[in-house]
Amino acid sequence: MSSSGNHDTATVSVHLVDEEKRFAKGLDKYVEKCYVGDDHGEDDGLNYHIVSVFGSQSTGKSTLLNRLFGTQFDVMDEEKRQQTTKGIWFSHANYVASAAEEQEAGRRRNSNNIYVLDVEGVDGRERADDKDFERKSALFALATSEVLIVNIFEHQVGLYQGANMELLKTVMEVNLSLFHEQSEKCLLLFVIRDFTGLTPISNLGESLEADMKRIWVDLNKPDQCADSQLSDFFDLKFFAISHKHYQPDKFEYNIRQLGDDFTNDRLFSHNAYHKRIPIDAWALYSEKVWDQIENNKDLDLPTQQILVSKFKCNEILNSVYDDLFLQEYSAVQEPELDPAASCAQFKELRHKCLSRYDSQASRYKGAVYSDVRRDLKAKIDLKLKGFQSTILSNLSKSLISKLDTGFASLKKTNSKKSFNYSLAGEEEKGAEYGADTSVFVENYAVELEKLEKALQELSHTLRTKESHILIGKITKKFQTKFKDCIIEELSEPTPESWDHIFSKFNELMEKIFKPYRSGDSFDFKIGLSQDENSTVHMKVLRNIWNKFDSIVHDYINDDSASRILRNLFEDSFKFDSNGLPLIWKTFSQLDSQFNKSRDHALSLFPVLCTIKGPEGSTIQKPKFDIENEPNEGIDSDDAGGENSSDEDDSENFEKSDRNSRFLTLLTPKQQAKVKARFKKETDAIYLDAKRSMVANKTS
Ligand code: GDP
Ligand code: MG
Repeated sequence: MSSSGNHDTATVSVHLVDEEKRFAKGLDKYVEKCYVGDDHGEDDGLNYHIVSVFGSQSTGKSTLLNRLFGTQFDVMDEEKRQQTTKGIWFSHANYVASAAEEQEAGRRRNSNNIYVLDVEGVDGRERADDKDFERKSALFALATSEVLIVNIFEHQVGLYQGANMELLKTVMEVNLSLFHEQSEKCLLLFVIRDFTGLTPISNLGESLEADMKRIWVDLNKPDQCADSQLSDFFDLKFFAISHKHYQPDKFEYNIRQLGDDFTNDRLFSHNAYHKRIPIDAWALYSEKVWDQIENNKDLDLPTQQILVSKFKCNEILNSVYDDLFLQEYSAVQEPELDPAASCAQFKELRHKCLSRYDSQASRYKGAVYSDVRRDLKAKIDLKLKGFQSTILSNLSKSLISKLDTGFASLKKTNSKKSFNYSLAGEEEKGAEYGADTSVFVENYAVELEKLEKALQELSHTLRTKESHILIGKITKKFQTKFKDCIIEELSEPTPESWDHIFSKFNELMEKIFKPYRSGDSFDFKIGLSQDENSTVHMKVLRNIWNKFDSIVHDYINDDSASRILRNLFEDSFKFDSNGLPLIWKTFSQLDSQFNKSRDHALSLFPVLCTIKGPEGSTIQKPKFDIENEPNEGIDSDDAGGENSSDEDDSENFEKSDRNSRFLTLLTPKQQAKVKARFKKETDAIYLDAKRSMVANKTS
């Protein structure tokens, strides 16, 4: 930035693009410093105008701007006629000239923030480098300004030749490279200098307009705009200023009149030409535009406008997030201590941040503004979600441990309140709390789902554990009672033994399931579903039948069968029906008693060989779908060595084979062995008895 004058009161101008075509640094600060906010209500940063000037060198452009806007652009020295500094100059208007009577000083306050661009060193007839600069500066002026002043001497109007022609052609050509991207029209304000008054201004205007249209028709146009008109891109206006030296008073007065046109909205026409870039982004925008022009890239203005909006909105996002959100977020001490209060605080903070963003960013392109707003919201929510997760996970942990201890004490106090009920209560509490913490994070559902899942898993684990224990308990109860029954019945078998055993078995089953019967189905009162209850029932049945199997087969084997038979024999052979020892008087008496006793014992042997249903019906050991699962609730020792391996084998047999294995207590081979042993033992007893009779008789 450099000053163009030595005046100390007025705003200096900025060398926006220098001789080396470099863009000025620090333009944003200059723009910001000069900007005067709207007097009425809130300022949206759009209360400004950009005016630029274009024309041949030394046609009094800078002189005009300085008088019109109180700027201090370099003016060629009248006497020395030295060249002014080349480039594009930029200045905030210090005032706007006025011819209004009440404006005694001939000027008004620049309350609309007119910024002025002065293009220096343009001379269409000079070197290639100058031509390049002429094009670029025209492009820049058109892309950034609302009003482009085309400065022209009256005597050049209508000549349709020379420098004047070159100037207008440049504006047209440059316009063509912009037209399909430019959404707002630009006002071309022809300021006719050294106006004599001989030709009325309206005629001069018509002449200029005709020239413009002629050039427009002659220009090679891209296909897209073959049918488009000059008026699709430009509005034209004309203004005449008298000769500076020959009619100085009129000259001054004309400029003041022109100044009034800038303040009475005749020229800006209700912002019809405004580029809608908030002033705080204008420096960035103009720099990007220049960068594209300087590097000969296609100048795509809408894209540039969006890029600038994005940049600015993100800048606002970052400042809101860093300077407001993070500051106040970290000021909340130990939010976990009082989650509810912190929730409210964070909710408030979130609202405050979004409001601040809205107030600063809503002036930018709608889509960009709302996209970035969404980003800000997501960024804030991500941080808040961390807090929410902590709260939810603490809550989750405390609920689960409460549930665990609650369940333990429920069992201890043997409360009537069902386990199912207590679980449902805790699950509900979890859901409620989840909803409470949702005040600032919309998608808390995921967290809540996690909590619910954890509760369900715990609940499932507890139920599984509980049903496992219950199955074991019931099985054990059956096992003890049924073992007693088997020993009682089979140690002294009778023809009715199996009838007794089965009626005892049924009685036991009835007794065991009675507390859990609920209509046609079962309820084991540990909060299981109907399906789970029937699975438990099935498992208990499976265990009971397996116990039946193992108890009977464990009890009956070669040795026990032989012992039982011998006891049966001896009871009958040695004692009478009153239990008194028998004394045999004769050998025939002995023989008859012996035969009777042996037949009696042997007649009961089938009871020990096969399981018989009540009244001789065939018993089926049920096959359960869950057969392959390990017996539940029973130690593997209990389930029993030999038999469990029989179980495994039985899977390979047909159902009838499997069942006959269950029914067969002694195989034919074992039976023969037991019988042979029985014969041997009873023969020995018989011989003993006979020997003692002989001894008694001889003594
Ligand atoms: P610029 O190069 O277009 O910016 O022109 P300047 O403002 O530097 O002025 C160039 C010369 O023209 C100076 O000597 C001025 O005094 C003179 N000049 C300024 N305004 C007018 C005018 O309205 N008519 C004439 N004939 N000369 C002017
Ligand atoms: Mg100048």
